[in-house]
Amino acid sequence: MSLKKALITGITGQDGAYLAQLLLGKGYEVHGLVRRSSHAEVTDHRLRWLGIEKDVHFVDGDLSDLAGLMRTFKLVRPDEVYNLAAQSFVHSSWQQPLLTAQITALGVTNVLECVRLECPEARFYQASSSEMFGLIQEEMQSETTPFYPRSPYAVAKLYGHWITINYRESFNLHASSGILFNHESPLRGKEFVTRKVTHAVARISLGQQDELKMGNIDAKRDWGHARDYVKAMWLMLQQDKPDDFVVATGRTTTVRDMIRIAFNHVGLDPDAYVKIDPALFRPAEVEVLLGNPAKAKAKLGWSTDITLEEMIAEMVDADIARLKRNA
Ligand code: NDP
Ligand code: GDP
Repeated sequence: MSLKKALITGITGQDGAYLAQLLLGKGYEVHGLVRRSSHAEVTDHRLRWLGIEKDVHFVDGDLSDLAGLMRTFKLVRPDEVYNLAAQSFVHSSWQQPLLTAQITALGVTNVLECVRLECPEARFYQASSSEMFGLIQEEMQSETTPFYPRSPYAVAKLYGHWITINYRESFNLHASSGILFNHESPLRGKEFVTRKVTHAVARISLGQQDELKMGNIDAKRDWGHARDYVKAMWLMLQQDKPDDFVVATGRTTTVRDMIRIAFNHVGLDPDAYVKIDPALFRPAEVEVLLGNPAKAKAKLGWSTDITLEEMIAEMVDADIARLKRNA
């Protein structure tokens, strides 16, 4: 039997790296779309962290370039397509709303068109987001909770979510959408709140920094570990029928408490270091997210292995190790 082929857009990001590792472990031939950079030597840094950079096949491409994507699909002929590429940072989406729409929204249609026209038998995964719930309409959000996006990013993701459902219904594609709640890891970008905090805690513990400026620390998120969450993506594409699934832990925590967990891990008191900077508040905030993963548990047999405390400890330790290595 020939190897199954997977194509991952966004392979250089956090989830792309962990998903590539998972699929390689299952014997897949993994292809990843990589956009051109003048710093080619650092684009694969997350894959190198996992020690898999030589095991994946890279193809040049950008989500906004349909012709290039078509060529990639003709070349690779994937069995499974994971569309993870996006302008993924909420805060930046107010600065770059049009770019966010072009990549995070219309980019999804570009990939779906490639599936429809080049390999309609392929199974497709769309990286949807809990940010679509925004101003929450139910205390615990599930697949049936109405959406209320609160940022250009969330509006773009909502388009990606619905166009995936529409292509499934219009063209009978095996297209699934994972509504993933925040998930983090040592490979999370430093602009996101958990990694910003763990990196700062690592620096403070090594005497390299003495203050941490934060925005709205009363916001609450349902945080899981990316390594657990990429398993759900794969499971969705192994089902007989495509569907949509909320992927979450079912526990919500304030940014304030997450900060405390990180500082306590190195024996420090956050109150001595954390300062609130109004410039870091957002034009419209998502105050609280809490997901109900019952459907993913029941239908996919999915569950989490890693707690928030374990994940934050892993992230702080990884940041300390990185800083010591570069010292
Ligand atoms: P990252 O920001 O770490 O990765 C984003 C990826 O998209 C990178 O590989 C980036 O490439 C790539 N990319 C950006 N623009 C383009 C483009 N124009 N063409 C091709 N590739 C592009 O995100 P995550 O790994 O954390 O998230 C994966 C997906 O899941 C994203 O769609 C995100 O919005 C979504 N999501 C994430 C959640 C989370 O908590 N992590 C929660 C819910 C959804 P480059 O390296 O060149 O920048
Ligand atoms: P998001 O849920 O996709 O926006 O993920 P983030 O990690 O960027 O932000 C999570 C929450 O932390 C949001 O409610 C932010 O407003 C809040 N937050 C508070 N201070 C900061 C900060 O300094 N940086 C970031 N990124 N978020 C912050």
